[in-house]
Amino acid sequence: MPVWTDTHCHLDAPEFDADRAAVVERARAAGVVGLVLPAVEAAHFDTVRALALAHDAVYALGIHPLYVERAADADLQRLHDALHACRGDPRLVAVGEIGLDHFVPGLDHDVQQHCYIAQLKLARDAGLPVILHVRRSADALLAGLRRVEVPGGIAHAFNASDEQAQRFVERGFRLGFGGAMSFERALQIRRLAASLPESVPVLETDAPDIPPQWLYRNAAERAAGASSRNEPAELPRIAQTLADLRGWSLAQTAAITTANACAALPRLAALV
Ligand SMILES: [Zn+2]
Repeated sequence: MPVWTDTHCHLDAPEFDADRAAVVERARAAGVVGLVLPAVEAAHFDTVRALALAHDAVYALGIHPLYVERAADADLQRLHDALHACRGDPRLVAVGEIGLDHFVPGLDHDVQQHCYIAQLKLARDAGLPVILHVRRSADALLAGLRRVEVPGGIAHAFNASDEQAQRFVERGFRLGFGGAMSFERALQIRRLAASLPESVPVLETDAPDIPPQWLYRNAAERAAGASSRNEPAELPRIAQTLADLRGWSLAQTAAITTANACAALPRLAALV
């Protein structure tokens, strides 16, 4: 059975409170052996670490750009302290999820930038790769990576130009592809997934978010109570899209993307 790695799963999200253990069980049954759990805020650092331990997963610690406004400098200090306290933990694979969101209206770009650069420095000092949130912010993120050199990582839910993709790759990054790739209208994402060098794509669900096309519900359906929750057990079916785009078998797709995930997050290699 192919070994899959979901490089981005928010298992700590409240959407999983009712059935978290069953969600992990379904993922394992589907062959999803590698599970990377990025944190989004300091209040969740302990939870994410405990979930990784309990479910034989790995984790990342960081403050997500949509959470930085309610975070204080004290939270950056908490991240610093947690990275120090967990520095010998083989399950701590990265600093993340960090980055910049220039899509959601009304966010304070200066606060985001301050927290992004501060967290890049913490990653550099800890010798850890980063898991990046990229949303209309590729150039600004790349500028930060030129200022503060980190050991690569993953640009997650990647959707940017060919040239921007190339620049992340030159900096040692892998690019994350998930449910968005399953929509036929996602032309640029599908083109990147099909054409990037074999060593670049990694797979992710971003569960419970970014439902693939077969789980997608429109606003009216959601208002009527339909769930569009994504989960890591969907990864092999999402991977079928990548396999079709590349002309790879599913077994090849699993082997290549898991190897790429381990290259991006070296500590993951011990666990998959
Ligand atoms: Zn995320």
